[in-house]
Amino acid sequence: MIFRTTPVTARRPLRRVRTAPALRPLRHRLDPARVEEIPFQAPDGVRLGLTRVDPGDSGRPAVLLLHGHTASADMFLLPEARNLVDSLLDDGYEPWLLDWRGSRRLPYNETGQRYTYDDVALYDIPAAVSRIRERIGDRPLSVVAHCVGALALSLSLTAGLVPGLAGVVSQGVFLTPKLAGRTSLRMSLAGELLRSRVDHIPVDFRKVGLRSRYTALFALASRNASCPDPTCQILHNSAWGTGASLFVHENLAEATHDRLAELLGPAPLWILPHLRRIELARTVVRWHDTDQRYRALPPNALDAAGRIDTPVLLLSGSENGLWGDSQRLCHDILAHRQPQLDVRYTEIPGYGHLDTFLGRGAALDVFGHILEFLGERR
Ligand SMILES: [Zn+2]
Repeated sequence: MIFRTTPVTARRPLRRVRTAPALRPLRHRLDPARVEEIPFQAPDGVRLGLTRVDPGDSGRPAVLLLHGHTASADMFLLPEARNLVDSLLDDGYEPWLLDWRGSRRLPYNETGQRYTYDDVALYDIPAAVSRIRERIGDRPLSVVAHCVGALALSLSLTAGLVPGLAGVVSQGVFLTPKLAGRTSLRMSLAGELLRSRVDHIPVDFRKVGLRSRYTALFALASRNASCPDPTCQILHNSAWGTGASLFVHENLAEATHDRLAELLGPAPLWILPHLRRIELARTVVRWHDTDQRYRALPPNALDAAGRIDTPVLLLSGSENGLWGDSQRLCHDILAHRQPQLDVRYTEIPGYGHLDTFLGRGAALDVFGHILEFLGERR
């Protein structure tokens, strides 16, 4: 059983998130004058983050970057490494970063207020694309999306809500989420926590303390761990208690390893019913079946894949310990069912999941594939 929860919990409508005041500051080493943070709200009133990096000249194609759930735009701006924004700037692009409502930078993510990925697909991503287009006019716009950012994007794309993108790069997962083998085995512990009214699985042991209701979770994560850092253990060895692994340990620079708790926030347990439904369907499905506000989203994104109107690059590390070979599967299924689509698959040897962006060698091993794909359609 995967993402085991009680049926009552799984069917209960999720509460809506409220707007919170301020975003945590971005951490980067760019000239602050080049980093333009744009006041931005989703159409349902939720405050989000939208950032444009000024390339210093005009007329460049734009690229929107979408982080994974509990991460943030920070994952593309690592000051300690050559990051994706550096590579895009040097290659002639104008980078934009969206902090969608699952961002670590938005403090309401730790307060237990709720949403589903439907909201991200219906509100956050299309609104960001519209706002960017207001600024860039008819210049090309591509999207690079990681993990749940890519899942949500797949729902926006198959709903026809973000038409006319120049290209899409999806890292880790896209239309056919399939959790890696051992990931399913330990979700019963998360299920127990859910029943005990715990809202989030923390990652920062220093904040939680030695003795708390999370002690068992951290103890489980520490089993057979080769690294003594509890935050690393819960992400690398356990992925918030799911049993998955988020990165290949040796691929992280020490500075990145030491600030994992800054880069990845607590995981909300109340998203599990939607994730569980997605996992069981083996495709991205919308949560809201009867709420008319969400009728623009397809019930099943894979069945609606014919609506995708842009070339797609599916990326995955060969050692992805969260989504396994989902991307290869996605490529094979789309090639069979939608042969008219331009979809390719590139596997990065020796990489896991997050290290495709956070890894010390990602600029050499990963970003070149992204730039090559984007370069073909600028
Ligand atoms: Zn470690």
